[in-house]
Amino acid sequence: VHEPDYAQILSAIAEQVAPLCKQGRVADYIPSLASVPVDQFGMAVQLLDGRRFSVGAAEQRFSIQSISKLFSLTLAFRLLGDAVWQRVGREPSGNPFNSLVQLEYEQGKPRNPFVNAGALVVTDILCQHHAQAEVAVLQFMRRLTGIADLNLDAEVARSELDTSFRNAAMANFMKAFGNLRAPVDAVLRSYCHQCAIAMSCSELAHAGLFLANGGVIPGSGERLLTTSEAKRLNAVLLTCGTYDAAGDFAYRVGLPAKSGVGGGILAVVPGILSVCVWSPGLDSNGNSLAGTQALELFTTLCENSIF
Ligand code: GLU
Repeated sequence: VHEPDYAQILSAIAEQVAPLCKQGRVADYIPSLASVPVDQFGMAVQLLDGRRFSVGAAEQRFSIQSISKLFSLTLAFRLLGDAVWQRVGREPSGNPFNSLVQLEYEQGKPRNPFVNAGALVVTDILCQHHAQAEVAVLQFMRRLTGIADLNLDAEVARSELDTSFRNAAMANFMKAFGNLRAPVDAVLRSYCHQCAIAMSCSELAHAGLFLANGGVIPGSGERLLTTSEAKRLNAVLLTCGTYDAAGDFAYRVGLPAKSGVGGGILAVVPGILSVCVWSPGLDSNGNSLAGTQALELFTTLCENSIF
């Protein structure tokens, strides 16, 4: 089988998306993210056989934001298995990630674990099992990467917490329906801190590799999920991982992926690799503008989407 020339493909992508890196808008509803310079780009590919390729600012850490939701869901899935779906659905929302409308007519049960309401429920599940849910997520990231000095940015967490009126509204609303067990303040605090974990493209690609490997961490051989569970998480990523543009993203890129408003997108080619791209300028759905284009070019040039 012909293997793509990853190094050459990554530099071609960086060159092609450079004009787009200037065009998106950084998320400014979290004050400390508003000051991140927009014109930046990095991309890292991690193959299951251990080889790595990268281009641009692939080692620069950024705020992983909603990409953390993939890892908190993995932890909750390990704790509860399919019982997770009693508390949160697994259908694409078709509404913005911070929308409240669907919560009322579905009785406080969020549409999926990757909209904010769903991620708050997942955090609540972790709060039932850990004194500090965000520390559990951070330690999980350290375990997945083998990097001990990963941390969260307390300034970003504080900035988000100070302005998280919408998330507070969702959390209170779900509490009223009986779908949050821990105190609202504790869930919001853990959630904002988990979103503020800072990692680079290389580190995130490494962390996501277990999803390309049927639920097993490649280096240590440790099994986190069964093959079937890994399939299921990848399915939820494909249908719900890139906000209300998941259909367009699947059409253009064709990979399970999770994006965050920090401008990162982590994607998985099952059986082959994981890839993370970062460029802080976002499109109107909240996905990295240059990042989405970079991944579309990647699967097109490598001919390796899941389809
Ligand atoms: N912490 C962000 C929020 O709750 C995450 C949003 C995102 O990355 O989608 O608004």
